[in-house]
Amino acid sequence: MVIAIDGPCGAGKGTIAHLVAEKLNLVYIDTGAMYRCVALQAIRDNIVDDSDKIIEMVKKISIRFDEFGKTYLNDEDVSDLIRSKEVTSIVSPISSIIPVREELVRLQRELASGLNVIMEGRDITTVVFPNADYKFYLDASVEERTRRRVEQNKEKGIFSDYDEIRSSIEARDYNDMHKDVGALKRTDDQIYIDSTDMSIDEVVEFIINKVGEVK
Ligand code: C5P
Repeated sequence: MVIAIDGPCGAGKGTIAHLVAEKLNLVYIDTGAMYRCVALQAIRDNIVDDSDKIIEMVKKISIRFDEFGKTYLNDEDVSDLIRSKEVTSIVSPISSIIPVREELVRLQRELASGLNVIMEGRDITTVVFPNADYKFYLDASVEERTRRRVEQNKEKGIFSDYDEIRSSIEARDYNDMHKDVGALKRTDDQIYIDSTDMSIDEVVEFIINKVGEVK
């Protein structure tokens, strides 16, 4: 079984997918983390502006997840490092490089092969698994997504400026929605969820109920 969730940054896809995975006993695959690993490796190799070198690099690195949701790049736990501001600021342009997408889409299908999975990202319902059993588009207003990100940072002890976070979210949304390949899109066969006024538990329950209904 494949549950696919797409949506813009900060809509809560990660949190929701993780909880649904626990409740339905599914493997959770965070595809954004995979693009973030490529961005981190590009920074480390000092090749951020060299697409040819990035394309070569992506074929050589190994990316995997463990059962606790940690992300490993070449067997190093990079779960925190891939969330840095530096990685976040370059990941969207790096994920626009078509051969990088082709390689990661191949890996995403391989990771899901033979398993019951919940996978989230930007192109899961449209490119990676267009025939997924259940497809969701998880959205929230840009104000609410900014507010959530500012709160999350505060919990981690990081002070962040609302306007700065909002512009960075808007820039990433724009780039993610205007890619030539793998753009974030709304389609008629996705179940649309606007989580602006919903709690985490309400969204989780909504998805679980839908999965039950369609079954
Ligand atoms: O989901 P997250 O914000 O961690 O994703 C980081 C970036 O990776 C996104 O802004 C997007 O540019 C890219 N991405 C993508 N396709 C996916 C998942 C993420 O292009 N399936």
